[in-house]
Amino acid sequence: MYNFPTKKLRSFSNFVKIVEVGPRDGLQNEKNIVPTEVKVKFINKLSESGLKTIEVTSFVSPKWIPQLADNSQVFKKINKVSDISYPVLVPNIKGLENALQVGVKEIAIFGAASETFSQKNTNCSISDGMKKAKAVIKEALKNNIKVRGYISCIIGCPYEGKIKPTVVANLAAFMLECGCYEISLGDTIGVGSPNKIKNVLSELNHVSNDTSKFAIHCHDTYGQALVNIYASLEYGIRTFDSSVAGLGGCPYAVGASGNVATEDLLYFLHEQGLETGVDLNKIIKIGDFISSQLQRRNQSKTGIAILTKEH
Ligand SMILES: [Zn+2]
Repeated sequence: MYNFPTKKLRSFSNFVKIVEVGPRDGLQNEKNIVPTEVKVKFINKLSESGLKTIEVTSFVSPKWIPQLADNSQVFKKINKVSDISYPVLVPNIKGLENALQVGVKEIAIFGAASETFSQKNTNCSISDGMKKAKAVIKEALKNNIKVRGYISCIIGCPYEGKIKPTVVANLAAFMLECGCYEISLGDTIGVGSPNKIKNVLSELNHVSNDTSKFAIHCHDTYGQALVNIYASLEYGIRTFDSSVAGLGGCPYAVGASGNVATEDLLYFLHEQGLETGVDLNKIIKIGDFISSQLQRRNQSKTGIAILTKEH
């Protein structure tokens, strides 16, 4: 049983939802191009692990992210299990049209809580970006597509440094008003610490006191991902994004670490007596599979520890 610090917090659910973002957020930051067939195999294996949400790809222009140029092919070829959601990232109306053509049922839109990051990443201001996102959300909802919102740089930005929690709260309020069912709060460069995460979450409490509207998305650049997740659990957050094998980023460049590894997150949550419905051993094998395909070092400490014990 998870030892909640206060009586109020004990009323939160014991079930934690994991959103696997390895095939999208993970692979988009990997230099070695992964063949379409390997991506399909990777996602099909994930579908058999107990995960209920697997972000498949991004319908972004191949000019921006060559790794995900096969987005339509991957989405068409994967086995779709009826009770699993397979969202895709969509940057604009064109991306939405392409996603609709292959039968996507859920999309994610994104915005950054930093003006400079927004300019460098999407060539427009935060508010222009939100106007465009609003149009995409409207069109998606018209087509009965569920929409998740991502906010990146909730704690810090590589260009501006510290980000004000009120900027994050305003963006979250806008996305919820537009019809997003959930907002994933991204510590994109992994500079968060528990007190900073709590500051953002307490600001968001003014936007909505329904914690099921928010998810936390941690990168492990400074090794703070799990303590930040622990702090978020205490706040009632029960949805976390993670990547098998900690895919993403570059292990050699400071400031570009991958997502928290799904293996490490599962080990931690299960040890706290929380339930996820995900089979850790299956995830460890998938982490081993994709790491060897990418010829990259597995970033999951739990994965490496258990695999080493087996051999
Ligand atoms: Zn990310």
